[in-house]
Amino acid sequence: MTAQIIDGKALADELRQSFKARVEALAARGQRPGLVVILVGEDPASQVYVKNKVNGCLAIGMHSEKITYDAAVDQATVLKKIAELNADPAIHGILVQLPLPKHFDEEAVLEAIAADKDVDGFHAENVGALAQGNPRFIPCTPYGVMKMFEQGKVDLSGKEAVVIGRSNIVGKPMALLLINAGATVTVCNSRTKDLAGHTRRADILVAAVGKPKFVTADMVKPGAVVIDVGINRLPDGKLCGDVDFVGCREVAGQITPVPGGVGPMTITMLLANTIEAAERKAGIR
Ligand code: NAP
Repeated sequence: MTAQIIDGKALADELRQSFKARVEALAARGQRPGLVVILVGEDPASQVYVKNKVNGCLAIGMHSEKITYDAAVDQATVLKKIAELNADPAIHGILVQLPLPKHFDEEAVLEAIAADKDVDGFHAENVGALAQGNPRFIPCTPYGVMKMFEQGKVDLSGKEAVVIGRSNIVGKPMALLLINAGATVTVCNSRTKDLAGHTRRADILVAAVGKPKFVTADMVKPGAVVIDVGINRLPDGKLCGDVDFVGCREVAGQITPVPGGVGPMTITMLLANTIEAAERKAGIR
């Protein structure tokens, strides 16, 4: 069996087109959605991510700006800027690009963002709301994965789901979303014994490990839905996921590619969260 491909790029394009009308409806009410991205330091990967986020907003008529600081900036300066943005009615979403330089207390910075502008969904209040099954902002990557399940008509209720990875930005919120959707969820980490024993039971397998081609065909249950969150750069410069795509697509029922899978959905859901924030403020949601 060759798996059906869940095309994240096509779904992302379709969603972004559909957002334009919502943006214009908000603009007509004087609430054009606005996102500010704060970047500290010169990490090349972060610079690319931030550029893509700002351009993604501008392409669908949203307002967006980037605020950059030298890596040596003190935390108080960044917190002061966040306080200003929290009070700015033209800004609906604030995002601090991670990772921050070592002298920053990352948690304190994320907590400083007003919970109703926390479009990354990393604020403790929003994490709590998600855990309670009443999410306000869903972290963008797992939110994108849920949209892909919707697109692939994957019924999660009663399914065995296995998530490899327990990070705050992917693994944990992914697990919570799957629990909320009625799946039976196992979350694996680097200390998990007999990982393949778990993954082979999975109707839904989500890999968020950060290791190229980590999930091999023998770890996949025939017909499973395999979601590859990983983005790894190979020595030849090519991008590669956490799943051995060529091998696993012969076993899986549905699979996401890298590139062109979860990646394009992440920024799309950031746009969605910012639009949702503006809609809430305008009393539409
Ligand atoms: P992370 O914080 O490094 O977490 C990786 C997780 O994988 C950890 O929980 C770790 O376990 C687990 N792990 C490592 N080795 C393992 C093993 N041998 N067996 C089982 N579990 C193992 O990474 P992340 O931020 O979640 O990101 C994961 C991947 O997704 C990366 O490739 C990243 O680039 C990518 N990513 C993609 C997007 C996107 O838009 N597509 C967004 C975010 C991240 P421990 O907790 O025990 O260490």
